[in-house]
Amino acid sequence: MKFQKAVSTARTLLLIALVFCVLGLTMGGAELATYRAVATGIAMLLVVVALYYIFRYCRCPYCGKQIFFGVSKATSCPRCRRNFVTGKKVKRNR
Ligand SMILES: [Zn+2]
Repeated sequence: MKFQKAVSTARTLLLIALVFCVLGLTMGGAELATYRAVATGIAMLLVVVALYYIFRYCRCPYCGKQIFFGVSKATSCPRCRRNFVTGKKVKRNR
């Protein structure tokens, strides 16, 4: 799987998880406890799947470095400094 695709998939999963999480938090009352538990369960499942995607696929295609923090806005590898799209070495821009 391509890096960008994995990142966008993980991001989408986390977004849906957040929706379910908010849904679960906003449902009050004992009569909604089952729905709340289901929403929380789905949210946790989605987070686990998203984390799996990040750990499994969000790595540099050139050196294999795992990119976890700031993966959604990373455009180049922090280790080999290659751009994920073009594969060209990029200069430090900070
Ligand atoms: Zn790399």
